Amino acid sequence: MKRREFTRSHREQIVRRATNAAGYVTCEGCGLVLGKKPYEIDHIIPEALRPDEDRKRPLTIADGQLLGKECCHRGAEGKTRQDVKRIAKAKRSAAKHMGFERPKKPMPGRDFPKTEKPKRIAKDALPPLPKTQLYTSRG
Ligand SMILES: [Zn+2]
Repeated sequence: MKRREFTRSHREQIVRRATNAAGYVTCEGCGLVLGKKPYEIDHIIPEALRPDEDRKRPLTIADGQLLGKECCHRGAEGKTRQDVKRIAKAKRSAAKHMGFERPKKPMPGRDFPKTEKPKRIAKDALPPLPKTQLYTSRG
């Protein structure tokens, strides 16, 4: 299924929506006034996480948000990175669902036999020890 992209008209409408009364474009993630800073139109729900059924209908401006590139979109904790993590996780659980789960390693130590406590043997159950002869007669 193809990734849907916002049209030029969508982008213009989103930019207009994100423009404050003073005429400055603001980040729809954190509210930062961007001025001339770069911004991007983000898919609020990443296309990769959309079920096919959703992707059959066209995008609307409600599916997008204007994010400052530096503040919300591409930073260390930015939307893109979070999305990538979520997509990877979704792929893993889909694979699991399909039965392609990676075999789990057994817990370390599980394969060793349990050590048993040595049994105490009653003293009189043993044969008496042979008496050692320390001295031999030279007779
Ligand atoms: Zn922001």
